[in-house]
Amino acid sequence: MVWLITYNLLNATGAYGVTQSPGQVPSGVKLDRQVVRAKLSGLASSLTIKGTDLALSLVKDPELGLVKADEWLVDCRHGFVIQPENGRARRIPPTGILIESMSGILSLNEHRFREKLVIYPKEVLAAAAQGRNTTQACLVVNHLQVENYLESVVNGEFNSQWAEAAVEAQVIAARTYAVYQMQEMRKNKASLYDVESTQKDQVYLGMDRADFKGSQIVAKTKGIILIDPRSKTPKPIKAFYHAACGGNTILPQEVWGNAFAGFSKKVRCPFCVTAPSYHWEYRLSFNEMEEKLHSALLSDPHLFFYWPKEYTQHFNEWILMSVKTVATAHASDPRVQDFVFEFAHQDHFKRRLMTKMNAYQVRNWLDATKLKSTLFTLSQQGRSVIFEGKGSGHGVGMCQWGAKKMGEKGYSRENILSFYYPGVKTNRIW
Ligand SMILES: [Zn+2]
Repeated sequence: MVWLITYNLLNATGAYGVTQSPGQVPSGVKLDRQVVRAKLSGLASSLTIKGTDLALSLVKDPELGLVKADEWLVDCRHGFVIQPENGRARRIPPTGILIESMSGILSLNEHRFREKLVIYPKEVLAAAAQGRNTTQACLVVNHLQVENYLESVVNGEFNSQWAEAAVEAQVIAARTYAVYQMQEMRKNKASLYDVESTQKDQVYLGMDRADFKGSQIVAKTKGIILIDPRSKTPKPIKAFYHAACGGNTILPQEVWGNAFAGFSKKVRCPFCVTAPSYHWEYRLSFNEMEEKLHSALLSDPHLFFYWPKEYTQHFNEWILMSVKTVATAHASDPRVQDFVFEFAHQDHFKRRLMTKMNAYQVRNWLDATKLKSTLFTLSQQGRSVIFEGKGSGHGVGMCQWGAKKMGEKGYSRENILSFYYPGVKTNRIW
């Protein structure tokens, strides 16, 4: 940790004393319509970036003080970037630093990424997280060509070795989703990224996940996206997909409360019955459920809006008494629409509080990796509940296991896409 001591002795602002309010950070880097900005997740607070001739510059003014080195260290906790060969340290301004690989490949904590990394200090990350707790200490955004990004996503979200038609359909859906996000997020000029690298958007783990087969399929489908044929200009749909629908897909408005262009019909899917997550069970005691609800509330103050004030103000005083579910109005679709929680006050046991919550939201609070879908039945045993369900994921758009099976049965990528995205057309945009 020699460099830690060295940079403490240096003038913290160094040669790059740029100050700016973190609330108004211009993204600075010129954005190409074929370049996606992927926010990286799960990073440690010290970053080691290696490569050949890595050019470091300020985002706001790339010409100012461009320095090349084969290694950079970033101390996110203190907001410094350090050049280990000479121990020089520079403060990371709110407008960010840009580290660009001349060879096109760099490694970040031993994982390979392509093209550019833009690093913003922790106050900018905190502003971007909008009050949610983050485990990271700075915001790292990988800027790269959409086509290069897809070469990694194909194995983060799917498996390039699966039937080719299915992988092609998946790549087209993933490209469409990315392009949709790029257009949406850039409506806000202050936005710093287009997609998150987690299941929230699309799982992206850098180049380590890319392989030859996946790259071939990305190249074969280059620039093809799904568009809503009713829009005048070719507009990408928000091409949602999920692991396994469990027999029926659903519409976005049933999950998130708002409709999206291109989604007007549900699909009965006979193809995902063999998915490993097709049948599942999850047990939770009332105590565990309360702990999960409390920690969700504590980690994201935005959730307070969903709960009655009496509960959020003193949630430790309320005891969970019963959990019930309300199914969707359609008899053909037994998905759970809402949860109804009943609480009793610890001091006045007769005082009860009933509250209805959107099931998709609750699924995230109770651990969406275990409460795999909203297609379940719930039974109460004493002060525990057992969820028995089918399928995995939100259930909107393409069912990935269904697509895999369709590919194995010889269906084409057009068959797969028009089955899961009825009424939607493909279009090549580059
Ligand atoms: Zn399915």
